[in-house]
Amino acid sequence: MRLRQLLDVASSTWTYLVIDEASGAAALIDPVYEQHLRDTALIRELGVDIVLTVDTHCHADHVTGAWLMSAALKSRIAFAATYGAENVDVPLADGDLLRFGGAALEVRATPGHTDGCLTLIGTDHDLAFTGDCLMIRSAGRTDFQRGSARRMYRSITERIFTLPDACLVYPAHDYEGRTVSTVGEERRFNPRIGGEARAEDFVGYMENLGLPHPKKMDIAVPANLRCGRPEDGVYPYRVDWGPVVATYAGLMEIGADWVAHHRDAVHLVDVRAADELAGELGHIAGVQHIPLDELRARVAEVPRDRPVVTVCQSGKRSGMATVILRAAGMKDVANLAGGMLRWRHLGLPA
Ligand code: FE
Repeated sequence: MRLRQLLDVASSTWTYLVIDEASGAAALIDPVYEQHLRDTALIRELGVDIVLTVDTHCHADHVTGAWLMSAALKSRIAFAATYGAENVDVPLADGDLLRFGGAALEVRATPGHTDGCLTLIGTDHDLAFTGDCLMIRSAGRTDFQRGSARRMYRSITERIFTLPDACLVYPAHDYEGRTVSTVGEERRFNPRIGGEARAEDFVGYMENLGLPHPKKMDIAVPANLRCGRPEDGVYPYRVDWGPVVATYAGLMEIGADWVAHHRDAVHLVDVRAADELAGELGHIAGVQHIPLDELRARVAEVPRDRPVVTVCQSGKRSGMATVILRAAGMKDVANLAGGMLRWRHLGLPA
């Protein structure tokens, strides 16, 4: 299995893309609603097939991106049956095996932070996604959503600390940017439950954390009990004017073929230097020419009655051009993917 770890800065959430190398099938653990375009872009660029999403528990601090991913890429939604949530395709219980391609994760119930918390464990017991149960030198709070410090003590000591010392621990959050730990390390050094800690030590610590409730709790919990489906049921990221895709770099791109066949539906801005437009690659008929160096100053010259597609040699400078146009308040803007090089490569007219 290959692993990619992704951070949502606003909620300090780690999302994990777990890929079965042999088949290209992948699972996405704890996706965040606001990071949907980032996640779909990475999945597309890596060429993996997202088979399912799984949330380790019903989050109180952010909304899951599970439903969005199922709407965009037809992944199935796996979630603990305990919560009785809507839109679940694969209700999970302790002992289940979550398969994607030739890979699988063992599902182990580790209640305590909530009553439905799951830890997902590699079948070789070499890695574990512990959600908000065992965290790096920490543990998830136990003071709401039917949390229980006593249950968490048992979950961690009986169901996680019994894994091999070398087993990697990947939590759902880390507020200090720490990426990974091991079972052995946490058994020794975890300040809440490591070393010689007994149940009353852990419970005493956890019952005196004195944390404020998460700001988004009243929104997040009901939304997560729908697996992140918006109340109106509408997928919010669909672009209505053309097949625009987000890149993992955060740009919006559109394919040359589509632009060639919908030439009149868009306004083209070529941002190369004048001598390039007259050079070997030529230029597309009807483009507006504004060199990138001048675009910020001349942004008012770009018409706003149609979506704008920016063009350059290879799609790099025109990518920067989309950033400038968006900063100027233009919403329907996309970069011509691959620029004039790909345009000519496809035999399109210039
Ligand atoms: Fe949580």
